Amino acid sequence: MTPLADILARRIAKTGPISLMEFMAECLLHPEHGYYTTRDPLGAAGDFTTAPEISQMFGELLGLALAQSWMDQGCPAPFTLAEIGPGRGTLMADVLRATKAVPNMHAAMQVHLIEASPTLKAAQRDKLAAYDVTWIDEASALPDQPLWLLANEFFDALPIRQFTRDAHGWRETQVALEGEALVFGLSNPAPIAALDHRLADTKVGDVVEVSPAAVPITDEIARRIASNGGAAIIVDYGDWRSLGDTFQALEAHKMVDPLARPGQADLTAHVDFEALARAATDAGASVSKMISQGEILSRLGIGARAQTLAQNLDGEALETHIKAFERLTSDAEMGTLFKTIAIAPTPSRLPPGFDT
Ligand code: SAH
Repeated sequence: MTPLADILARRIAKTGPISLMEFMAECLLHPEHGYYTTRDPLGAAGDFTTAPEISQMFGELLGLALAQSWMDQGCPAPFTLAEIGPGRGTLMADVLRATKAVPNMHAAMQVHLIEASPTLKAAQRDKLAAYDVTWIDEASALPDQPLWLLANEFFDALPIRQFTRDAHGWRETQVALEGEALVFGLSNPAPIAALDHRLADTKVGDVVEVSPAAVPITDEIARRIASNGGAAIIVDYGDWRSLGDTFQALEAHKMVDPLARPGQADLTAHVDFEALARAATDAGASVSKMISQGEILSRLGIGARAQTLAQNLDGEALETHIKAFERLTSDAEMGTLFKTIAIAPTPSRLPPGFDT
């Protein structure tokens, strides 16, 4: 039993089953035993790999899209260049390198990173030592000024509530105790106002998931963009509307039982892009169509960029580069599973690639 399993088992024994959301929140960010609190989970030696860790092209292309958007909006100064959930800082490092030559941009920007993990904050500090960076704990602490922001594989790490529809309402997934073991259970059925819009497109037995924390975070970001200018690009795995059980645990790049080793496995769920889009629209911003990762990277010119980089490579390095291109864009890998939306002040201000 992990130390966190022990803590949760004692809590459940005392006060009854906890929601999946509480379980996920404790596993990911418990101050002492949380998954993100205690480690750097990224890369080949870790539990999962993300697009910026696969190739520099991902950050370069998104960075140039943000730079173009900043110029399209008249190069406001000062402005915030932000990332939420920046991992090892690789994406931001690629963005900053790619935009170095954009006239006046670096002089006007104030880089803000929103990060909850002390371990990853330290990794970001090392990676971005050459830049003036401010760390904040929450999106609500972003300055009240024009904002260009990236989020890659951030929203999938937020705790979810999961519900199964039955004849009398929705039953929420819980974590309970059976003897000494943690087991999944379901609450008694109840009506859930936040799921009223799902009554028309679901039937008894269907599972839907919601991420309550995603809404206020998107609201903070979209509100600044709507009133001060800017844009946000959100990339993640998921779909327009959540349907089905997508809660999963990854350890050493393999799917594992999420209850087996609390605090030791990465827990995620697919992102419901409709919920993010609705929060952004409610905050007064505009939202692009949802576009697959493969499609947006192709629109931003990954083909040409890949060829330019390939010219200086041969042997194993060239092989790796070609594989990375495939992983980011092909339908069999991240190309269609991963989706993206952009948030902007008005539809005419969407970043390049998102404006059709
Ligand atoms: N964007 C990076 C890392 C993705 S992993 C990449 O593409 O490589 C998820 C990141 O979100 C980690 O940096 C993790 O510590 C951070 N994170 C998770 N929950 C968070 C929260 N509630 N607030 C801020 N950061 C969080």
